[in-house]
Amino acid sequence: MEAREIRIKGIVQGVGFRPFVYRLAVRFGIKGNVLNDTEGVLVVAEGESKTLDNFIRAIREEAPRSAVIREVITKPTERTGASGFSIIRSEHRGGEVTAISPDLATCDDCLSELFDPGDRRYGYPFINCTHCGPRYSIIEKLPYDRPSTSMSPFNMCENCRTEYEDVLDRRFHAQPNACAVCGPQYELLDGQGHSVECENPIEETCNLLIAGKIVAVKGIGGFHLMADALNKHAIDALRKRKKRPAKPFALMVADIGTARLFCRISDSEAEILRSPAAPILLFEKSDTPGYRLPETLAPGLDRLGVFLAYAPVHYLIFALSGLPVLIATSGNRRDEPISCDNEEAIRALRGIADAFLVHNRDIVGRSDDSVGFVFESDMVIVRRSRGYVPRPIELPISGKPLLAVGADLKGTFALTRGNEAFLSPYLGDLAGEKSLELFEEVLERYLNWLKIEPEAIVCDLHPDYVGTIEAEKLARKWRVPLYRIQHHFAHGLSVIAEYGLPDEACLTIALDGHGYGEDGTIWGSEFLLTHYGGFERLAHIYNIPQPGGDKAAVDVRRMALSWGYAAFGEEVIGRFPELVKKLGNKTEPLLNIIRENRRPSTSSAGRLFDAVACLSGICCENTYEGECPQRLMAAVDYTERASYDFDILEMTLDPRPVIRQISVDIGNNFLPGKIAAKFHRGFANAITEMASRLCEEKGVEKILLTGGVFQNTVLLELTAESLRDIGLKLHWNKVVPPGDAGIALGQALFGLATED
Ligand SMILES: [Zn+2]
Ligand SMILES: [Zn+2]
Ligand SMILES: [Zn+2]
Repeated sequence: MEAREIRIKGIVQGVGFRPFVYRLAVRFGIKGNVLNDTEGVLVVAEGESKTLDNFIRAIREEAPRSAVIREVITKPTERTGASGFSIIRSEHRGGEVTAISPDLATCDDCLSELFDPGDRRYGYPFINCTHCGPRYSIIEKLPYDRPSTSMSPFNMCENCRTEYEDVLDRRFHAQPNACAVCGPQYELLDGQGHSVECENPIEETCNLLIAGKIVAVKGIGGFHLMADALNKHAIDALRKRKKRPAKPFALMVADIGTARLFCRISDSEAEILRSPAAPILLFEKSDTPGYRLPETLAPGLDRLGVFLAYAPVHYLIFALSGLPVLIATSGNRRDEPISCDNEEAIRALRGIADAFLVHNRDIVGRSDDSVGFVFESDMVIVRRSRGYVPRPIELPISGKPLLAVGADLKGTFALTRGNEAFLSPYLGDLAGEKSLELFEEVLERYLNWLKIEPEAIVCDLHPDYVGTIEAEKLARKWRVPLYRIQHHFAHGLSVIAEYGLPDEACLTIALDGHGYGEDGTIWGSEFLLTHYGGFERLAHIYNIPQPGGDKAAVDVRRMALSWGYAAFGEEVIGRFPELVKKLGNKTEPLLNIIRENRRPSTSSAGRLFDAVACLSGICCENTYEGECPQRLMAAVDYTERASYDFDILEMTLDPRPVIRQISVDIGNNFLPGKIAAKFHRGFANAITEMASRLCEEKGVEKILLTGGVFQNTVLLELTAESLRDIGLKLHWNKVVPPGDAGIALGQALFGLATED
């Protein structure tokens, strides 16, 4: 017999870990005890050496599905001669800090109870247990205990209390534990926010959805606008009321089988869909005969965003309505954060929703649904919110606590504690008034949870960013140093940070919309020699005027004209007659801006994709961010193997020859899909050629692919393939978005390296 102390770190509290250890101990005949403390879970186990080995292996291999074990440390300890195994109740000491679990999708056990007429929670829309249910969204403060959550107004009935106190029950210390007798309830409101008398508000909601109405449904992290995805009139109405002519709607289904009717889903993708985080994943549309969704759900795109029901109320809506597919889009006004408060939702969504299905449990931490896609069997996250926050990301170095404020367009901050970075959920465009309010509110809550006082702040180099101004304000208030870091450099560091790469030179290839450059101009597509503490700008895409500034990011005919002029000079008018026709009398004034080379100028890859989408006749307006590039990607004809040639100059990747080749192809009546394919292939080749040259020159072999443009899976795939072909090592963002929502992580690493 021997005794060992087993320390388990990670997300191991509030997920049923102690009862799990208890059951294992009984199974293996282990004596000792288990308790929660500030560092996680601590087990003292006594038994035969081999049995102990098996017990420890089982802890790792059979852990509850929502637990995340980061580390298991074992050491010998004194035998206590315990006669059995016990769970020691934790006492809440001051300064106790524990990890907060993200919200967890309804587990299979709860689901079968939900639909079991004999179960006392049959049809109860707030059913949950230690393996599932709300966490992040209901926690006000730590330690995680019922009074510290928005469940505090609900007193448990005797049945619930008994479960809650029984160490062997699935609901032992499940803080949101509730039932129809004692827990939260749903209520239906009409379009004006007045209560609707009805016996079963969820059933009534289903009747409205069946009738083609739009209902705002309060869920876990906020409100969804829901509608029947097969009803064209409902889709049109939602588009019109939300002023959202083309942006794709996310689709919710109750099971993978239904999703497979209209998109292609691999087994690894299915696994991620079914995970406790239940993210929206982007899938290629498939063509099951006889099963087609309305084209207006995602006009011009070849991909659909799909996710599984993840709250009991979603499952009830599917079961009671019989509808197979629902639109479930964030309930917000354009560019505003998702609504989570009943009154706020009614204010924001009046005129959009025909009715509101609300409940009386407050959402403390709002979060949108997370979004991602699977590339080479790993998820690439595009929006990191519900199901993932506030799970920390481990950094390669440790240091004083600090705050990184991220970039404006995709508001997200990061706080560090030791070597962990805690990212906020997606907060919306910080330039919106409500987003900044939310930024401050969430920041305060995180600071309380983590019990840290940042000793430095990191922000973007852009002097006019709302985030920068906020950072300056906080730096004065807290009397701490403020570090500014270049946008694309921070993108590169975000990759280094998430992989925990050592501090050695890498080549960052950051392709995105725009970021403030060190020389005060706008940078867009950058090749940077990067290490923790600094970078050297090695090359970038050829710079051209962006006539009208931000206007050209929406009306992309402007960028098409600018690229046309760059390639042909005054001849542009004869070369692209279609474009000139579309621009009409705007052509001349725009040409004047371009001729005079007026600022701003841009080297943005995003704007180049825009221009090519427009010139090839696919799409000339971004009614939502990234529409033109996404439609260009969707148009790619994979049978076309040819590619356009870029010029690779010393410091510049020059697309002007591409524009000339496109003009020839248009003259030869090439289909847009061919042009799209040749452009994607050509761009991947050009990136590879430039990277190969720079890597050889600088003696580096590690490449970091980052920036929002790499959300383009066709470009990512082609680029990865050709870079690997020449023997370079590749990393790209997976756990934080390649776009601007991932920047805070890179800023945080820079802050730690600078403070060091
Ligand atoms: Zn459950
Ligand atoms: Zn109860
Ligand atoms: Zn960026």
